[in-house]
Amino acid sequence: MKVQKYFLVFLSFSVITSCDLFKKNDTQPIEPTKEEPLASIPKFNPDNAYSYIEKQLSFGIRVPNTKSHDACAAYLIEFFKGVADTVYSQHYTAIAFDGTKLQSTNIIAAFNPNASKRIIYSAHWDSRPFADQDTVDQNKPIPAANDAGSGVAVLMEMANAIKSQPLSSLGVDLVLFDSEDYGQPATSKLPQVQNSYCLGSQYWAKSPHVPDYKAIFGINMDMVGASDAVFMREEISATNADWLSQYVWNTAARLGYSSLFIPQLAGAITDDHLYVIQGRKIPMIDVIHYTNDSGFGIHWHTHRDDMKWISKNTLEAVGRTMLQVLYDYDAKEEVN
Ligand SMILES: [Zn+2]
Repeated sequence: MKVQKYFLVFLSFSVITSCDLFKKNDTQPIEPTKEEPLASIPKFNPDNAYSYIEKQLSFGIRVPNTKSHDACAAYLIEFFKGVADTVYSQHYTAIAFDGTKLQSTNIIAAFNPNASKRIIYSAHWDSRPFADQDTVDQNKPIPAANDAGSGVAVLMEMANAIKSQPLSSLGVDLVLFDSEDYGQPATSKLPQVQNSYCLGSQYWAKSPHVPDYKAIFGINMDMVGASDAVFMREEISATNADWLSQYVWNTAARLGYSSLFIPQLAGAITDDHLYVIQGRKIPMIDVIHYTNDSGFGIHWHTHRDDMKWISKNTLEAVGRTMLQVLYDYDAKEEVN
């Protein structure tokens, strides 16, 4: 992912109004509300989530065109086949900023595949081939425990949870995008290439796993496992789906996670949610470790992004918040 330097571009985005859940932009900080009871949610086991990050790292780097990348893909597909109703794998060739042809795979685990009302949760599963934010070995790949082993691990444990307590009416797609983090490094001497990150979501937005794919909304997770994590309401998310951003942060507060989910606006970040918003007109937000003061944190795109930074408490807070949002919407759909 990348910080958007030219945020003004995004002010011209058309506001998505197709969703009947849409509410007008309102960037006021929100207080937890008590008017609706929280739905019961299945257990999210943080020990499992932690072990799923360890497992991803055990393959080695998850950089496209490597054996360890392909071995991890095979593992993830097998894992989701064991828990989801249908698993799709999308193979495609993405062209990196330097012309490298990246043999890539998006993985989609669907629950209730025939349900017309669907929600997407996503994360990227590839790891960065560079450590351009480090002071040493900048051309070597990073372990990528948090970026993005953590998001994948949350999706995996969410899948276990959804299997243990099936949804009443909603369908869910857990989408693992490949080739997100092969973006042009700041240190690159090549001419600046636009849209060099998020190649997997760019592909999927043009060629979704199901023709004419639609969803009520989506939530992308990126770097959601660090012990020092802070999630602010990212600007593109708040511009395009403010009601959803507020709803998620409000839900986190109701669960007691307001020290992690700070209901304050943060700068615009190019991440997978952007291409889903643009390409499929699906309201989507990004839950990402970022603050206006400290950016993506001190381990971002460095060799320090390893298991030492991973916190089971953070994984649990994110996983439970995501499940709460999902099961609350499922309960509402059941009533309607
Ligand atoms: Zn990254």
